[in-house]
Amino acid sequence: MADAASQTYDVVIIGGGPGGYNAAIRAGQLGLKAALVEKRSTLGGTCLNVGCMPSKALLHASELYEAANNEFAGIGIDVKPKLNLAQMHKAKDDSVEALTKGIEFLMKKNKVDVVKGFGRIAGQGKVEVEAEGGAKTTLETKNIVIATGSEPTPLPGVDFEDGKVIDSTGALFLPKVPKHLIVIGAGVIGLELGSVWRRLGAQVTVVEFLDKVGAGMDGEVATAFQRGLTKQGMTFRMGTKVTGAKTSKDGVELTLEPAQKSENGGGEAETLKGDVVLVAIGRRPYTAGLGLETVGVTPDQRGFIANDHFKTSAPGVWVIGDVTHGPMLAHKAEEDAVAVIELIAGKPGHVDYDLVPSVIYTGPEVAWVGKTEEALKAAGVNYKKGKFPFAANSRAKINHETEGFVKVLADAATDKVLGVHIYGPQAGELIGEACMTMAFGGASEDVARTCHPHPTRSEAFRQAAMGVEGWTMQA
Ligand code: FAD
Ligand code: NAD
Repeated sequence: MADAASQTYDVVIIGGGPGGYNAAIRAGQLGLKAALVEKRSTLGGTCLNVGCMPSKALLHASELYEAANNEFAGIGIDVKPKLNLAQMHKAKDDSVEALTKGIEFLMKKNKVDVVKGFGRIAGQGKVEVEAEGGAKTTLETKNIVIATGSEPTPLPGVDFEDGKVIDSTGALFLPKVPKHLIVIGAGVIGLELGSVWRRLGAQVTVVEFLDKVGAGMDGEVATAFQRGLTKQGMTFRMGTKVTGAKTSKDGVELTLEPAQKSENGGGEAETLKGDVVLVAIGRRPYTAGLGLETVGVTPDQRGFIANDHFKTSAPGVWVIGDVTHGPMLAHKAEEDAVAVIELIAGKPGHVDYDLVPSVIYTGPEVAWVGKTEEALKAAGVNYKKGKFPFAANSRAKINHETEGFVKVLADAATDKVLGVHIYGPQAGELIGEACMTMAFGGASEDVARTCHPHPTRSEAFRQAAMGVEGWTMQA
């Protein structure tokens, strides 16, 4: 690092996750003098260290393990797989290390000063960084970008306890496969990490407050998705709340109650025992010790820092990623990052949050972008729908991946695509085409009349788009 204290930066970014490191890269590209402050020893934030990447490593490995157990014999490959969990964790950790080093390289390439330590805003244009040993440096800057991310939301009455009541980070590092894993929350983390441990041999029970899985996904998809996960062996306790937890040397006993009391005020409390409980009920913004009070910024009731085009209420202080409003996703943080730096550099910067896709990396995957049917109905939008099952897609059939469907929702008058919902193989890869279509204001007919390669799963998207005008050809 250059002598950080002796110069004035154009921008100091606090937090080295997908928001912060992408902001730093864009700042370097645009010739801004930038510093990136990170309290962890490695860059990459939640996503690279304890989020997107290690979870996908375990999802990939456990999917192959399950296929080797259940599917290989059917296609003529006789094997008897043996789980080596320590090696699975090592492979994950090695990949994470390579990725975080890659970010260090990108900082050098873009001439960004990386300052390791805890960053605290110390008034307008000042960021004080306390390194691990306690040494302090003050960085002077024209702009501060807050990109401090989020942390798991705890559940009152269910205190975290190492190895027994864990958050997502604990679930990425379990040293042995639990016999019975109870997951609280049927959202993205619960269903992804629940899938990992089920595939590796755990009995998995998911307790969810609402009556639908998937934290806001399209209702028709949620129903099919839950049915698919149930078929795979996951058990669901929907419409149920956890009111307490007791740990003992054998595991954890949860107390459950119906989320909605019955008319007579009843609803029997009951207990559920497991050896590990994963609390996955959402994440909350992280601003501890950030010194927001020194610039007069107050987080809202839920702890988020509000923004108007990434500006906070304090001049020269900007905010992006999980710590501000919008979906808590790495690619959303990345979009924010590009826009905020372009605004700081005097260019236009904008993010269309309607076009931020969501993916759940289960098997099969769920992916969507734009409006759900429920949202369109609630807004009184007149829409048409095309739907195509993977059971009729030749590539999916040949690969024995026929679960699921693609659904395209388009404006009834203009045919503009308003939402695409996919439950099926490679849904996360397929959704990119839907994002592109919608970014260009495309119509379902644009997709329906675009030649797609055969045999690919992408043909299912085209066939669903044809369905909007009633001319699906292959089902
Ligand atoms: P973060 O990645 O949280 O980074 C913030 C950084 O700021 C951290 O490194 C933190 O140490 C640092 N920091 C905080 N305060 C200070 C301070 N005062 N001084 C210095 N440094 C500080 N999203 C996806 O899009 N796809 C996925 O597949 C996906 N999978 C996930 C799986 C799991 C298990 C989890 C937990 C999350 C997943 N996410 C996924 C969400 C994704 O990780 C976040 O949306 C993303 O990391 C947010 O980026 P960010 O830069 O806003 O914050
Ligand atoms: P989530 O918001 O996806 O799901 C939380 C679930 O917990 C919801 O279904 C909610 O109804 C339920 N819930 C809340 N309180 C409850 C209670 N007291 N009892 C029972 N159920 C309760 O949150 P998450 O799964 O913790 O994930 C956190 C964030 O991380 C999400 O915003 C997500 O976007 C991000 N993430 C993304 C990915 C991905 O993109 N593939 C993967 C993991 C995490």
